[in-house]
Amino acid sequence: MSRRKIIAGNWKMNKTPQQARELIRTLLPLVETDEADVVFCVPFVDIPAAVEEVSGTNVQIGAQNMYFEDAGAFTGEISPEMLWELGVEYVIIGHSERRQYFHETDEDINKKLLMAFEYDLIPIVCVGETLEQREAGETLSWIRSQIEGAFEEVPEDLARDTVIAYEPIWAIGTGKTATSEQAEEVCGYIRQVIGELYGPETADVIRIQYGGSVNAGNAAELFSMPDIDGGLVGGASLKEDFGKIVNYK
Ligand code: PEP
Repeated sequence: MSRRKIIAGNWKMNKTPQQARELIRTLLPLVETDEADVVFCVPFVDIPAAVEEVSGTNVQIGAQNMYFEDAGAFTGEISPEMLWELGVEYVIIGHSERRQYFHETDEDINKKLLMAFEYDLIPIVCVGETLEQREAGETLSWIRSQIEGAFEEVPEDLARDTVIAYEPIWAIGTGKTATSEQAEEVCGYIRQVIGELYGPETADVIRIQYGGSVNAGNAAELFSMPDIDGGLVGGASLKEDFGKIVNYK
């Protein structure tokens, strides 16, 4: 089975709407490709400008978070319906920065995953271990628990469309990339766990990204590993280098 690559930029809390327009205009000619899905995950307030700028191009827009209720007294939160109405197609769920700074739990992430599907948003679910967990030999058991938690009660027909991003926390924003062997080991293991939960066909079609200090120099090696179907890219997605990452071949 040849899975279509997906390369997504996570802009984090960077760029005002006007700056977002300028960056998108710079990046669009560089990220043209027929061979991969390309997504810009922008801050909430940039979404209308970003959707307008990418209209008619190969780029789709993603959000970086959402709440797990339709509407109501949840001051400061953004609902999946709001994202859907603006033309958002993907949503990052459970990024490690949200788990760490905003105390998101596997249970929250599971609720968000289930709710994203209700509004036809494709979730990009992030999992990853800390350096301490890796050094203690706990990486695979931790990843299993995060995957099992996130996918609880998610039916097979929705699970298969989910994108999973394996992002070792020690590699995010640190310039320290996992080796292609380390990344492949965990992405292959995630595929195995999905296979146990949903069967081999789902394991074969589900897309698993690597994230953590991906740059123009290491993308080709990482993305050519058999179980790595592209990347979730932070810092380098704000630079022209993102074009080289998308067109890594
Ligand atoms: C991320 O934010 O998901 C990420 C992987 O960041 P960076 O590429 O900067 O390590």
